[in-house]
Amino acid sequence: MKARIFEIKRFAVHDGDGIRTTVFFKGCHLKCVWCHNPEGIPSTPQLAYYKNKCIGCGECVTVCPQNAHRIENGMHVFEREKCIGCGKCTDVCLGDALIFYGREMTVSELLPLLLEDKEFYENSGGGVTLSGGECLMHADFCAELLKELKANGVHTAVDTCGFVSKAAIDKVMPYTDIFLYDLKSFDEDIHIKCTGQSNKIILENLKYIDDCGKKTEIRIPYVPGFNSGEIEKIAKFTKDLEHLTLVRVLPYHNYAGSKYESLEMENNLPKQLPTDEEIRIAEMHFADR
Ligand code: SF4
Ligand code: SF4
Repeated sequence: MKARIFEIKRFAVHDGDGIRTTVFFKGCHLKCVWCHNPEGIPSTPQLAYYKNKCIGCGECVTVCPQNAHRIENGMHVFEREKCIGCGKCTDVCLGDALIFYGREMTVSELLPLLLEDKEFYENSGGGVTLSGGECLMHADFCAELLKELKANGVHTAVDTCGFVSKAAIDKVMPYTDIFLYDLKSFDEDIHIKCTGQSNKIILENLKYIDDCGKKTEIRIPYVPGFNSGEIEKIAKFTKDLEHLTLVRVLPYHNYAGSKYESLEMENNLPKQLPTDEEIRIAEMHFADR
């Protein structure tokens, strides 16, 4: 069994407790307007090309089986439509201008990489977090990986948007110590406007995980003009969750603009950033958590 991974981030400190390694899986059914990981949305492999880093060395031209790269008048030209996502050009690029997102990996390839930092996990109360994209689009793979991690005594977290089937959640539940659960909106229409999908299944799944006695940490991206009016409603909805350990309000940032450009993906990132005062007021709704 294989899954497409777009990043493995070691020494992560914002993806659950302690020092962690976070594995980012490709593919997501939501399309949040503020997404800062656009490379996580398509499930297919993608090549990012950062024009400003290209030094025109031509190494990519020599390895590409599709002739997607060429040097013309001393300038590098990339024809994305020819690319089949083999990743060969990223291995030889001298300017670090090419990044390949979505290498296929097996559990037995991933596991030893994740166990390399076991000592750091143990000393910091950390572990491994599966994220994305939406990692639970690869529920069978995740279950197998999480099972191996638990067998090796590693703390496990699953970072999910919750827009998945109950069957997917059931597969990983026995091997997951905590769910890091993204909640964007309580109002369904606002959720559809922000993500393209209804939030019904997301709210149901959160309740289901709590009813199963599993710990959750909720994460709310705070995006002015989009979901900033939803905080109070989310606070009311979450107040009865018995196994909720923490709610984090995550201030929206717009650093991902160059990533969209490098992938030639449409960039609809909101312009307005939240103020510190807005975040402080939002956090007050969850002061008892
Ligand atoms: S990823 Fe492969 S096919 Fe695509 S441009 Fe690079 S070498 Fe060519
Ligand atoms: S290998 Fe990298 S730096 Fe060299 S021409 Fe290709 S994209 Fe530019």
